[in-house]
Amino acid sequence: ILTLEQVTKTFGENTVLDGINLTVHQGEVIVIVGPSGCGKSTLLRCINALEPIQGGQISLDGEKIDQKSKSLVALRQKIGMVFQSYELFPHLTVLENIMLAPTIVQNRKKEEVREEALALLGRVGLIGKENSYPRQLSGGQKQRVAIVRALCMHPEILLFDEVTAALDPEMVREVLDVMLNLASQGRTMMIVTHEMQFARAVADRIIFLDSGKVLEDTSPELFFEKPKTERARQFLNMFE
Ligand code: ATP
Ligand code: MG
Repeated sequence: ILTLEQVTKTFGENTVLDGINLTVHQGEVIVIVGPSGCGKSTLLRCINALEPIQGGQISLDGEKIDQKSKSLVALRQKIGMVFQSYELFPHLTVLENIMLAPTIVQNRKKEEVREEALALLGRVGLIGKENSYPRQLSGGQKQRVAIVRALCMHPEILLFDEVTAALDPEMVREVLDVMLNLASQGRTMMIVTHEMQFARAVADRIIFLDSGKVLEDTSPELFFEKPKTERARQFLNMFE
Protein backbone atom coordinates (compact mmCIF):
# COMPACT_ATOMS: atom_id res chain seq x y z
CA ILE A 1 0.00 0.00 0.00
CA LEU A 2 2.99 2.30 0.54
CA THR A 3 5.87 2.68 -1.90
CA LEU A 4 8.99 4.81 -1.80
CA GLU A 5 11.01 5.17 -4.98
CA GLN A 6 14.44 6.76 -4.98
CA VAL A 7 13.43 9.09 -2.16
CA THR A 8 16.01 11.75 -1.45
CA LYS A 9 15.89 14.29 1.34
CA THR A 10 18.47 16.98 1.98
CA PHE A 11 18.87 19.63 4.65
CA GLY A 12 21.12 22.16 2.92
CA GLU A 13 24.32 20.32 2.01
CA ASN A 14 23.42 17.35 4.17
CA THR A 15 21.86 14.39 2.31
CA VAL A 16 19.81 12.63 4.96
CA LEU A 17 17.88 10.16 2.78
CA ASP A 18 19.81 8.94 -0.21
CA GLY A 19 17.70 7.10 -2.79
CA ILE A 20 15.41 5.09 -0.52
CA ASN A 21 13.41 2.30 -2.20
CA LEU A 22 10.87 0.55 -0.03
CA THR A 23 7.50 -1.16 -0.37
CA VAL A 24 5.15 -1.81 2.52
CA HIS A 25 2.33 -4.30 1.96
CA GLN A 26 -1.03 -4.47 3.66
CA GLY A 27 -0.74 -5.99 7.12
CA GLU A 28 3.04 -5.88 7.19
CA VAL A 29 5.05 -4.79 10.22
CA ILE A 30 8.28 -3.11 9.19
CA VAL A 31 10.85 -2.26 11.83
CA ILE A 32 13.46 0.35 10.97
CA VAL A 33 16.73 0.26 12.86
CA GLY A 34 20.04 2.03 12.49
CA PRO A 35 22.52 4.28 14.24
CA SER A 36 21.58 7.68 15.63
CA GLY A 37 21.33 10.29 12.89
CA CYS A 38 20.97 7.77 10.03
CA GLY A 39 17.62 9.26 9.00
CA LYS A 40 14.96 7.08 10.66
CA SER A 41 12.83 9.92 12.02
CA THR A 42 13.26 11.90 8.83
CA LEU A 43 12.02 8.91 6.82
CA LEU A 44 8.81 8.68 8.86
CA ARG A 45 8.34 12.44 8.71
CA CYS A 46 8.66 12.39 4.91
CA ILE A 47 6.09 9.59 4.64
CA ASN A 48 3.68 11.70 6.67
CA ALA A 49 4.53 14.74 4.50
CA LEU A 50 5.78 16.63 7.55
CA GLU A 51 8.94 17.21 5.50
CA PRO A 52 9.18 17.90 1.77
CA ILE A 53 11.42 15.57 -0.26
CA GLN A 54 13.89 16.75 -2.89
CA GLY A 55 13.80 13.70 -5.15
CA GLY A 56 11.89 10.52 -5.84
CA GLN A 57 8.34 9.68 -4.99
CA ILE A 58 6.24 8.40 -2.10
CA SER A 59 2.78 6.96 -2.77
CA LEU A 60 0.04 5.55 -0.63
CA ASP A 61 -2.64 3.45 -2.34
CA GLY A 62 -1.19 4.63 -5.65
CA GLU A 63 -1.64 8.29 -4.73
CA LYS A 64 1.40 10.50 -4.60
CA ILE A 65 2.20 12.04 -1.21
CA ASP A 66 3.33 15.55 -1.81
CA GLN A 67 3.31 18.54 0.52
CA LYS A 68 1.63 20.56 -2.21
CA SER A 69 -0.98 17.98 -3.09
CA LYS A 70 -4.62 19.02 -2.75
CA SER A 71 -5.55 15.71 -1.20
CA LEU A 72 -2.91 16.01 1.53
CA VAL A 73 -5.50 16.39 4.28
CA ALA A 74 -7.23 13.21 3.13
CA LEU A 75 -3.94 11.35 2.69
CA ARG A 76 -2.69 12.32 6.15
CA GLN A 77 -5.81 10.81 7.69
CA LYS A 78 -4.74 7.46 6.30
CA ILE A 79 -1.47 7.72 8.21
CA GLY A 80 -1.36 7.61 12.00
CA MET A 81 1.78 8.77 13.72
CA VAL A 82 2.94 8.33 17.30
CA PHE A 83 6.00 10.21 18.55
CA GLN A 84 8.47 9.75 21.39
CA SER A 85 7.09 12.90 23.06
CA TYR A 86 3.36 11.93 22.95
CA GLU A 87 2.29 15.37 21.63
CA LEU A 88 -0.94 15.34 23.65
CA PHE A 89 -2.69 18.66 24.25
CA PRO A 90 -2.08 19.47 27.94
CA HIS A 91 -5.28 21.50 28.40
CA LEU A 92 -7.55 18.71 27.06
CA THR A 93 -8.63 15.56 28.87
CA VAL A 94 -7.73 12.12 27.56
CA LEU A 95 -11.11 11.76 25.89
CA GLU A 96 -10.99 15.27 24.40
CA ASN A 97 -7.51 14.60 23.03
CA ILE A 98 -8.72 11.44 21.33
CA MET A 99 -12.00 12.87 20.03
CA LEU A 100 -10.64 16.13 18.64
CA ALA A 101 -9.48 15.06 15.17
CA PRO A 102 -12.19 12.47 14.42
CA THR A 103 -14.95 14.97 15.22
CA ILE A 104 -13.37 18.14 13.80
CA VAL A 105 -11.31 16.87 10.85
CA GLN A 106 -13.38 13.82 9.94
CA ASN A 107 -16.71 15.26 10.95
CA ARG A 108 -17.84 12.09 12.65
CA LYS A 109 -20.64 11.97 15.21
CA LYS A 110 -19.50 12.70 18.76
CA GLU A 111 -21.41 9.82 20.29
CA GLU A 112 -19.96 7.28 17.90
CA VAL A 113 -16.40 8.55 18.39
CA ARG A 114 -16.81 8.63 22.18
CA GLU A 115 -17.95 5.01 22.21
CA GLU A 116 -15.06 3.91 20.05
CA ALA A 117 -12.57 5.92 22.13
CA LEU A 118 -13.81 4.36 25.38
CA ALA A 119 -13.65 0.87 23.88
CA LEU A 120 -10.09 1.44 22.65
CA LEU A 121 -9.04 2.89 26.02
CA GLY A 122 -10.36 -0.29 27.59
CA ARG A 123 -8.31 -2.41 25.22
CA VAL A 124 -5.09 -0.66 26.29
CA GLY A 125 -5.86 -0.86 30.00
CA LEU A 126 -6.96 2.74 30.56
CA ILE A 127 -10.53 2.35 31.73
CA GLY A 128 -11.42 5.22 34.08
CA LYS A 129 -8.73 7.56 32.75
CA GLU A 130 -10.89 9.27 30.12
CA ASN A 131 -11.41 12.44 32.16
CA SER A 132 -7.81 12.74 33.36
CA TYR A 133 -5.45 15.37 31.98
CA PRO A 134 -2.13 14.29 30.45
CA ARG A 135 -0.16 15.68 33.45
CA GLN A 136 -2.05 13.24 35.71
CA LEU A 137 -0.82 10.22 33.74
CA SER A 138 2.43 8.27 33.71
CA GLY A 139 4.58 8.29 30.60
CA GLY A 140 3.40 4.83 29.62
CA GLN A 141 -0.23 5.84 30.05
CA LYS A 142 0.27 9.00 27.97
CA GLN A 143 1.86 6.95 25.23
CA ARG A 144 -1.06 4.50 25.21
CA VAL A 145 -3.43 7.47 24.92
CA ALA A 146 -1.40 8.74 21.97
CA ILE A 147 -1.73 5.32 20.31
CA VAL A 148 -5.49 5.26 20.88
CA ARG A 149 -5.73 8.77 19.46
CA ALA A 150 -3.99 7.60 16.29
CA LEU A 151 -6.19 4.47 16.05
CA CYS A 152 -9.39 6.48 16.40
CA MET A 153 -8.67 8.13 13.05
CA HIS A 154 -8.90 4.69 11.36
CA PRO A 155 -5.53 5.02 9.64
CA GLU A 156 -4.38 2.51 7.01
CA ILE A 157 -0.84 2.61 8.28
CA LEU A 158 0.63 3.47 11.66
CA LEU A 159 4.06 5.05 12.09
CA PHE A 160 5.84 4.81 15.45
CA ASP A 161 8.99 6.82 16.15
CA GLU A 162 10.84 5.50 19.22
CA VAL A 163 7.66 5.60 21.25
CA THR A 164 9.28 3.95 24.28
CA ALA A 165 12.56 5.90 24.25
CA ALA A 166 11.41 8.47 26.83
CA LEU A 167 9.77 5.95 29.15
CA ASP A 168 11.01 4.51 32.44
CA PRO A 169 11.92 0.85 31.97
CA GLU A 170 8.90 -0.44 33.87
CA MET A 171 6.57 1.38 31.46
CA VAL A 172 8.23 0.23 28.27
CA ARG A 173 6.64 -3.23 28.41
CA GLU A 174 3.05 -1.98 28.61
CA VAL A 175 3.49 0.12 25.47
CA LEU A 176 5.33 -2.60 23.54
CA ASP A 177 2.54 -5.05 24.45
CA VAL A 178 -0.04 -2.71 22.93
CA MET A 179 2.03 -2.59 19.74
CA LEU A 180 2.44 -6.38 19.64
CA ASN A 181 -1.30 -6.65 19.99
CA LEU A 182 -1.88 -4.28 17.07
CA ALA A 183 0.55 -6.32 14.98
CA SER A 184 -1.35 -9.52 15.75
CA GLN A 185 -4.55 -7.82 14.57
CA GLY A 186 -2.94 -7.41 11.15
CA ARG A 187 -2.33 -3.66 11.30
CA THR A 188 0.12 -2.20 8.82
CA MET A 189 2.88 -0.55 10.81
CA MET A 190 6.30 1.04 10.45
CA ILE A 191 8.19 1.11 13.73
CA VAL A 192 11.44 2.85 14.57
CA THR A 193 12.90 1.37 17.75
CA HIS A 194 16.09 0.60 19.62
CA GLU A 195 14.42 -2.31 21.45
CA MET A 196 16.05 -5.16 19.57
CA GLN A 197 14.20 -8.04 21.24
CA PHE A 198 10.91 -6.35 20.50
CA ALA A 199 12.02 -5.66 16.92
CA ARG A 200 12.74 -9.31 16.39
CA ALA A 201 9.43 -10.38 17.91
CA VAL A 202 7.18 -7.94 16.09
CA ALA A 203 8.77 -7.48 12.66
CA ASP A 204 7.83 -9.15 9.42
CA ARG A 205 10.78 -7.30 7.89
CA ILE A 206 13.72 -5.36 9.27
CA ILE A 207 15.09 -2.35 7.43
CA PHE A 208 18.62 -1.35 8.41
CA LEU A 209 19.35 2.27 7.56
CA ASP A 210 22.80 3.75 7.57
CA SER A 211 23.77 7.22 6.31
CA GLY A 212 20.40 7.61 4.62
CA LYS A 213 20.62 4.33 2.67
CA VAL A 214 18.79 1.04 3.06
CA LEU A 215 21.66 -1.39 3.69
CA GLU A 216 19.47 -4.37 4.58
CA ASP A 217 15.81 -5.18 3.95
CA THR A 218 15.31 -8.69 5.22
CA SER A 219 13.58 -11.05 7.64
CA PRO A 220 14.27 -10.58 11.36
CA GLU A 221 15.82 -14.06 11.50
CA LEU A 222 18.37 -13.28 8.80
CA PHE A 223 19.05 -9.79 10.09
CA PHE A 224 19.81 -10.88 13.64
CA GLU A 225 21.50 -14.20 12.81
CA LYS A 226 23.32 -13.48 9.55
CA PRO A 227 23.49 -9.76 8.76
CA LYS A 228 24.87 -9.25 5.26
CA THR A 229 26.79 -6.06 5.86
CA GLU A 230 29.66 -5.26 8.18
CA ARG A 231 27.84 -2.08 9.26
CA ALA A 232 24.86 -4.08 10.49
CA ARG A 233 27.16 -6.46 12.35
CA GLN A 234 28.84 -3.52 14.09
CA PHE A 235 25.45 -2.01 14.90
CA LEU A 236 24.14 -5.25 16.41
CA ASN A 237 27.31 -5.69 18.46
CA MET A 238 26.40 -2.57 20.43
CA PHE A 239 23.37 -4.40 21.80
CA GLU A 240 25.18 -7.56 22.87
P1 ATP B 1 18.00 9.08 16.23
O1 ATP B 1 18.20 7.60 16.36
O2 ATP B 1 19.02 9.82 17.05
O3 ATP B 1 16.60 9.53 16.51
P2 ATP B 1 17.49 9.40 13.39
O4 ATP B 1 17.95 8.21 12.61
O5 ATP B 1 16.05 9.50 13.71
O6 ATP B 1 18.37 9.48 14.72
P3 ATP B 1 17.09 11.88 12.02
O7 ATP B 1 16.44 12.62 13.13
O8 ATP B 1 16.26 11.41 10.91
O9 ATP B 1 17.95 10.66 12.58
O10 ATP B 1 18.24 12.82 11.47
C1 ATP B 1 19.04 12.48 10.35
C2 ATP B 1 19.97 13.63 10.02
O11 ATP B 1 19.20 14.75 9.59
C3 ATP B 1 20.82 14.14 11.17
O12 ATP B 1 22.10 14.38 10.67
C4 ATP B 1 20.15 15.41 11.59
O13 ATP B 1 21.10 16.30 12.09
C5 ATP B 1 19.54 15.91 10.30
N1 ATP B 1 18.29 16.68 10.53
C6 ATP B 1 17.13 16.19 11.01
N2 ATP B 1 16.18 17.13 11.07
C7 ATP B 1 16.75 18.27 10.59
C8 ATP B 1 16.28 19.62 10.39
N3 ATP B 1 15.02 19.96 10.65
N4 ATP B 1 17.15 20.51 9.88
C9 ATP B 1 18.43 20.15 9.58
N5 ATP B 1 18.92 18.92 9.75
C10 ATP B 1 18.11 17.98 10.24
MG1 MG C 1 14.94 9.74 15.46
